[in-house]
Amino acid sequence: MTIRQRLTLYYAALLTIIIIMFGTLTYVVMRWTMIGTIDSTLVETATLITNNSRLLPVPGFGAPSRMEIELAPLDLFRASGVYVQAWEIVDDKPIFKESSLNARGLGTNALDPTMLGHHESVFSHHTVNNVALRILTVPIIQSSSGRLVGNIQVATELETVNRASKQLLIVVLASCVFAIFGAMMLSMWFSHRALVPIEHITQAAASIAGTNDLNTRLRWKGPPDELGKLISVFNQMMGRIQHLFSVQQRFVADISHELRTPLTAIQGNIALMKRYGVDAASLDDVETECQRMTRLVNDLLMLARADYGGITISLTPIDLDSVVIECLTQAKILAKDRQLDIHLGHFQPVRIKGDYERLKQLVSNLLNNAIKFTPDGGEIIVTLGSNHEQAILTVKDTGIGIAKADMERIFDRFYQSEASRVHHTDNEGFGLGLSIAKWVVEAHHGTISVSSEPKHGSTFTVTIPLYRPQQDEEIPPHQRPTRTRIPALRKMLEGDDE
Ligand code: ADP
Repeated sequence: MTIRQRLTLYYAALLTIIIIMFGTLTYVVMRWTMIGTIDSTLVETATLITNNSRLLPVPGFGAPSRMEIELAPLDLFRASGVYVQAWEIVDDKPIFKESSLNARGLGTNALDPTMLGHHESVFSHHTVNNVALRILTVPIIQSSSGRLVGNIQVATELETVNRASKQLLIVVLASCVFAIFGAMMLSMWFSHRALVPIEHITQAAASIAGTNDLNTRLRWKGPPDELGKLISVFNQMMGRIQHLFSVQQRFVADISHELRTPLTAIQGNIALMKRYGVDAASLDDVETECQRMTRLVNDLLMLARADYGGITISLTPIDLDSVVIECLTQAKILAKDRQLDIHLGHFQPVRIKGDYERLKQLVSNLLNNAIKFTPDGGEIIVTLGSNHEQAILTVKDTGIGIAKADMERIFDRFYQSEASRVHHTDNEGFGLGLSIAKWVVEAHHGTISVSSEPKHGSTFTVTIPLYRPQQDEEIPPHQRPTRTRIPALRKMLEGDDE
């Protein structure tokens, strides 16, 4: 069953129940009110009769003497269409006493024989000569002894009430049928209206699936209700999918591009070796290109695994200063053939919670970039400090700097600025270093930012939350941080320069 059919059915069922309940209530209340009016007429009549009648003792032998009812004139009530009968109860048997003129036709048949002998006033229904009657039987009681002396029965025909009730029932039933039909039509229309936008969404999704057109967006002229919001979320989702898809396409194109250069070089070298025989220079070239491809594949693999959450980093207490010193020592070895002044600025021991290998990757990437993009004669300064909550690491260089337009994009995968390509013609990078650095920083709940001025240099700033030991925290021995001897290390680093 479709949602539309189900909605129609629910609406119609609900409206039918309401209409039937309303109709039944109207019918019951109307009938109850009409019978209530009859009942008050009967009560008034019976009260009048009992108030105007007297009990007289019948002279005779023995005690207690029998009482006789001296009735008020019963014909008084003929005009109101009320039948009246008076009965005496002698030895628990009803004996007909008198009746109003309009009830004479009944002879000595009681209006309702089953109710005679009752000690309380009671209403009943009875059919006499095919005429439905509403009857009130009231007792006449001798006040001194509490003995039942007789019963007065007053009755009126129910014909008018029954006819009115029947007509009302027909009207209610007819309106119920009309209302149910109307309710079904209305609910079909409502559910159709409510589902039109969903049909549009389905069509749009089908057209996207059919034509691979990610440009499709839905238009919504209605209010920002649930459907309006659904359409806006759908459009946002399409925008996001489109963006991710284009990023993915660019990513694949970039990888292919990056792999093409080393593969061409390898092919060239192999062709040379085939023609002229194996030589050491060609083999070295092939080896270098293979290493380059291996680096690219490793970086890509790491980013891909980081994307789907396949890398778990365990954050343990670590001295960030040790990590920085180790990376700086390696960087100095790497740059030993360059005329660069690499040294520490303000430097203080700082402890954070981190992953040693990932942090090394982060600092090395920043230092390698600084070395790569700073011409000989330049300076690279590394500082480490903290504020109340964060460790702050900066890597400052006096290199080629980064243009404002490039600054937003340097953390994107495979992005390399034009200036850096010109500066570094034998570019060894792939534009992945900063993407990896950003991922590492974010995995440590930190931030990375850059400030730069073209031709004057750049400063990369990394902040990572400081390590705050919990009370009674037990650190396993292999995770205990080691403190660096900064003055000694500083001397060692600076001694290298001399
Ligand atoms: P790669 O260094 O392999 O090209 P990165 O992701 O590390 O890739 O850097 C991306 C780009 O950001 C670089 O190509 C360069 O244009 C720019 N960049 C990064 N670090 C610096 C720096 N210290 N000075 C100038 N430009 C930089």
